Amino acid sequence: MSFWWIYPVLVTLCTLFYSQALRTYPSNEVMKSDALHPCVLTSCTVTLLDSMSALGDLGWVAYPPEGWEEISVMDERNTPMRTYQVCNVLEVNQNNWLRTSWIPRGGAQRVYIEIKFTLRDCNSLPGVSGTCKETFNMYYFESNYGNLQHIPENQFIKIDTIAADESFTQVDVGDRVMKLNTEVRDISNLYKKGFYLAFQDVGACIALVSVRVFYKKCPTTIRNLALFPDTVTGRDSALVEVKGSCVNNSVEFDAPKMYCSADGGWLVPIGRCFCKLGYEEKKNRCQPCLPGYYKALLTDALCAMCPAHSFSLQDSSTECTCEKGFYRAEMDPKSAACSRPPSAPHNPISTVNETSVIMEWSPPEDSGGRKDVTYNIHCRRCQPEGQKCSPCGSGIHYIPWQFGLSHPRVLITDLLPYTNYTFDIEALNGVSELSSGPKQFISVKITTSQVVNVILKERKSKDSVTLAFQGPEKTKDAVVEYEVIYYEKNQKEQNYTILKTKSTFMTVDGLKPGTTYVFRVRAHTVGGQGIYGGEIELETSTEDMIAITDPNQITILAISVAGGIILLIFLVTCFFVSGRHCGYIKAKQDPDEDKMHFQHGRVKLPGSRTYIHPHTYEDPNQAVRDFAKEIDVSSIRIERVIGAGEFGEVCSGRLKLPSKREICVAIKSLKVGYAEKQRRDFLGEASIMGQFDHPNIIRLEGVVTKCKPVMIITEYMENGSLDSFLKKHDGQFTVIQLVGMLRGIASGMKYLSDMNYVHRDLAARNILVNSNLVCKVSDFGLSRVLEDDPEAAYTTRGGKIPIRWTAPEAIAYRKFTSASDVWSYGIVMWEVNSYGERPYWEMSNQDVIKAIDEGYRLPPPMDCPVVLHQLMLDCWQKCRSDRPKFGQIVNILDKFIRTPSTLNELANSSTWQDPNMQEAFTVTSVEEWLEAVKMTQYIEHFTMAGYVTLDSVLYLSNSELTKMGITLTGHQKKILSSIQNLQALGTHVQI
Ligand code: AMP
Repeated sequence: MSFWWIYPVLVTLCTLFYSQALRTYPSNEVMKSDALHPCVLTSCTVTLLDSMSALGDLGWVAYPPEGWEEISVMDERNTPMRTYQVCNVLEVNQNNWLRTSWIPRGGAQRVYIEIKFTLRDCNSLPGVSGTCKETFNMYYFESNYGNLQHIPENQFIKIDTIAADESFTQVDVGDRVMKLNTEVRDISNLYKKGFYLAFQDVGACIALVSVRVFYKKCPTTIRNLALFPDTVTGRDSALVEVKGSCVNNSVEFDAPKMYCSADGGWLVPIGRCFCKLGYEEKKNRCQPCLPGYYKALLTDALCAMCPAHSFSLQDSSTECTCEKGFYRAEMDPKSAACSRPPSAPHNPISTVNETSVIMEWSPPEDSGGRKDVTYNIHCRRCQPEGQKCSPCGSGIHYIPWQFGLSHPRVLITDLLPYTNYTFDIEALNGVSELSSGPKQFISVKITTSQVVNVILKERKSKDSVTLAFQGPEKTKDAVVEYEVIYYEKNQKEQNYTILKTKSTFMTVDGLKPGTTYVFRVRAHTVGGQGIYGGEIELETSTEDMIAITDPNQITILAISVAGGIILLIFLVTCFFVSGRHCGYIKAKQDPDEDKMHFQHGRVKLPGSRTYIHPHTYEDPNQAVRDFAKEIDVSSIRIERVIGAGEFGEVCSGRLKLPSKREICVAIKSLKVGYAEKQRRDFLGEASIMGQFDHPNIIRLEGVVTKCKPVMIITEYMENGSLDSFLKKHDGQFTVIQLVGMLRGIASGMKYLSDMNYVHRDLAARNILVNSNLVCKVSDFGLSRVLEDDPEAAYTTRGGKIPIRWTAPEAIAYRKFTSASDVWSYGIVMWEVNSYGERPYWEMSNQDVIKAIDEGYRLPPPMDCPVVLHQLMLDCWQKCRSDRPKFGQIVNILDKFIRTPSTLNELANSSTWQDPNMQEAFTVTSVEEWLEAVKMTQYIEHFTMAGYVTLDSVLYLSNSELTKMGITLTGHQKKILSSIQNLQALGTHVQI
């Protein structure tokens, strides 16, 4: 039976459905060329059957004949459409089958069936209850054959029973309300070539408007430059792993793959390809770099413009060629600009100190476009006329080293005295060796000198003294004249006198009787002025006396008498010939002698200034104004925090003062919310520091007090504090480098003690190190010892003191002097030689105090030269006047640097005996004896003075030791007390 009402409804439905279908399917623009591959962006479907698109008969099989009926209708565009309907609702036992034609699977394992149908509501049909149904069944049958005539019903596998979401009534039809149902089912795991679908009606009123069968696939795509082909989705919901292949001109970097999901979408790509060198990625393709561009790294996406001073003329360049005269070093990346060798260094400054020289220079004005400028030093020794030069050969030491210096500074030691040297400072960079151009260097000429030794000093009478001097043996010809400076002891700031002579002796007279004078001598040489030797003190007698016992001295006296006669003749001549009064000459001098007097304030003697404590100012701000420069805050750029101080953070940054070079600085700031006292104390450090000017004292650049936060700006020390620096570089320095550092600290401390400044907290943690390994004394805070130093502990007398570094008298009764600083210096020596070990390790402060009192001293650190440990022990003499002065320490260390072989003998830290623990040794020679008393540095002194047997030393005295050049009181005491033992025990020496 057929239902007349179906036709008009169908036409309308189909029209609507069609337009709906157009919306579901992608439009022609978005469809790929193949209409069967309607892919939208990442996913697409492939249609295997579409009843709507059939032009002729669908050719489906319907049975029994009174069941499903094929009806052709035209849609609004006059396109014929095939539909099937059945509506035997009044009859019982309906079993109407409609079977599609064979549908090839097309490689899919999972297909989808979308059906669109209408279904009549049984309630709207009168008299059909009991027979009318509102569902139908859908089946499939897999087969490799497309021409099966008959398939038994029981061979079909049921897909589902389909019910309508929307059924409709007669009224609905009249009102033209659309009730089209769309249902989608899927079949998985297909494995035969194709299948048939079947629809079973059991008594419903249905119009099957469309049947579409399709499967999904992931469409061809390019991801990360890898091509992924069309991929049919897997069975069930399994992902399909697909390997990608690199697009043209690209190479695999990490195997590209992607997963195709069950609903036809690609999941996240894994791995990738990169355009090969010389090609760049554009729109999923690799295109050649244009001339002027290059690509040298696979992982770079795009070609880059040729770096400065290079070019590329071809397409697809993998690198750019350097312009003429420019080069690329082997390790330079292709992206680096081509560079050239640097120009020569300039502004060399050399500071000659006897037989060593410190040279500094400015970096080349043209670095060649590189940051790796280094310097080589080439040494030539030249004849006095300066013409003929020859290479210096070995024996000279360069600190830090001779070749490949990264900083424009070098210390050269062990030069011959009074010799002309020419040093060529050559600038190089990473491309110097690629260039055939001439070397870029600047030459520095120097002449070395040496301290003049005073070999005789004698009180001649109550108003005169005689001195005789000796320059170094080999080079004494180079000495032009000697210069003697003298002044009354303790009066150097008021009045001193300079005398000059060409001879090797001088009698100074016109002195006050019974007065102590200080003398210092230096040589003027062809190469310039030497440096003053150590201070010699001589007291004139109250009575006239001549006390000469040494035959040499008699000779000298004879010479001096002769000189006196000549001088007398000269004076008379002077008086009569020039008519001028020569009465200003206090001393009878050699005719060549000159004399100068300086009054206080006119000429500064080195070390004659005294430091002024800020507390002596009524207004502490005035002290800051007097000693520290106010800096405009806009000249400072803070870069990063480098430490924490007592008053706030310490930062590094840059300071650019008008018409000065920008420099790196450390910036200490006073934290907010400070009390007035804290501000005073904070700035107190600047007031102290600002009074110092020495290469081994941290330099104050200035202060910011006019705005907040208040800041103190100092030079920047790249390597931070010495203790942590040494710990970081454990065992990495040569002994000479360590001694170089200690020499610097001693020199800074000498300067401070000359200025009568007592540091009180000298310790490696308060020494800063710059990039050239130059050590500088820092930490001049007013409250320093009391508050700032974490090592400071309260003593029984109430003060807070860094016990391990402090001399016993300073701990016991706060007697802080330069001598107590020397004790601390000894501890710093120990810290340096042990690379930052904690003095006395984990001993408690109380135990340290007790041990020191009982005579215990720190043993030599590992690999520490004997002479350095001996110097430490000297610094730790219980009696403070026995300790060496900083000036002496500097001289001793200088000698070690000049003669590094003195550092060869290492103290054995494990067998070192505390001097407190007495032990007897048998000695048979002067050498053995000096070795036993740890005074080997004086073996040569004894030999030179003729003391070669043990018997000969038994009656030595203080003054004889001094004459031999053994001037340190501590050493003299030690030797003399050992001599007493020698006398008592024969050759059994107690140490
Ligand atoms: P202070 O308050 O002087 O003890 O400084 C605290 C810390 O800041 C020190 O231990 C250093 O690590 C660092 N520091 C202080 N001044 C300087 C400087 N001039 N150059 C580099 N670091 C510094």
